[in-house]
Amino acid sequence: MDHYSKDGCDVYPIIVPAQNLKTINFFLVKHENGLSLIDAGLDDETCWNALQLELEKNDLRLEDITEIILTHHHFDHVGLVNRIVSLHPIPVFASPLSVPRLKRDPQFLENRISFYDNVYKEMGCGELGDKQIQYLRKSIKKNKHQAIQTDIKEIKNPHFLHYNVLEIPGHAPDHIAFWDKKRNWLFSGDLLLEHISSNAFIEPDENGNRLYSLVQQRDSLIQCSSLQAAIVFSGHGDMIENPNDLIAKRLERIEDKAHRFLKLIQNGIATVNDLAETYYKKTYYEQFPLVVSEVVSHLDYLEIQKKVNKDFINGVWHYSLPSNIKV
Ligand SMILES: [Zn+2]
Repeated sequence: MDHYSKDGCDVYPIIVPAQNLKTINFFLVKHENGLSLIDAGLDDETCWNALQLELEKNDLRLEDITEIILTHHHFDHVGLVNRIVSLHPIPVFASPLSVPRLKRDPQFLENRISFYDNVYKEMGCGELGDKQIQYLRKSIKKNKHQAIQTDIKEIKNPHFLHYNVLEIPGHAPDHIAFWDKKRNWLFSGDLLLEHISSNAFIEPDENGNRLYSLVQQRDSLIQCSSLQAAIVFSGHGDMIENPNDLIAKRLERIEDKAHRFLKLIQNGIATVNDLAETYYKKTYYEQFPLVVSEVVSHLDYLEIQKKVNKDFINGVWHYSLPSNIKV
């Protein structure tokens, strides 16, 4: 099905093929007060053309779009914002937490790099960590043009248009979802993907402390399952009907993986660097930041459950099992 319609509301998904993510999805939603664009794909011709085509196909024009609303700040969800707004100035709405990220605020980005620098050092990542920090510093300059040019209107009210706005941090700290209760439709960005599990990336909070991103992701998934949504309009891959089985599967996977890290710790592998290398092998080198994020977020999850202890030895955290924990 390429178009969803219910009770005076129409959703026209724009689905653009992508490699690992399968597709990049964003949505035109025609409602009684206008035409929203939920998320805005990548900043490239393929996404731009797909948007044009979907508008044309449904007898709509770019000028008909009344607002852009964003689920989170990641570049594959905000790509066309500048281009659309430069041709047709409309408000762009996002979580207050998205603003410094979308604006690429220099101080914010600098603090974020210090945060990762500290994590990589404390987790014993050595040279790989230093390299990643150099890469992040370069990308501040390189990606400067990606900053959203227009003013971003903060969504502060839990009711916005015909949606309940849900905070669903985990994949990104600023992640929100739009719940259309009347139609049982959920626009949830990257919270739940049909074909792969969405990663909980470690990120600092506004004071520079590490967020428990996997704990957040887990809570967000549980929140999502309580809605009993009929359709989840997802940021990548297929739309998800009756998502609760899939959510249960994703929650189970978190427990499984945490358990596997516990076993490695029981076998004496003590640092994040060594755990990541042992568990992920080649992928550790190929996808360093992602892999470190996975290990750290799982260890944080274990730590708050008091399933692991940690000691700071020569500037590096060493994890161990409390005597009462059996795996
Ligand atoms: Zn995404």
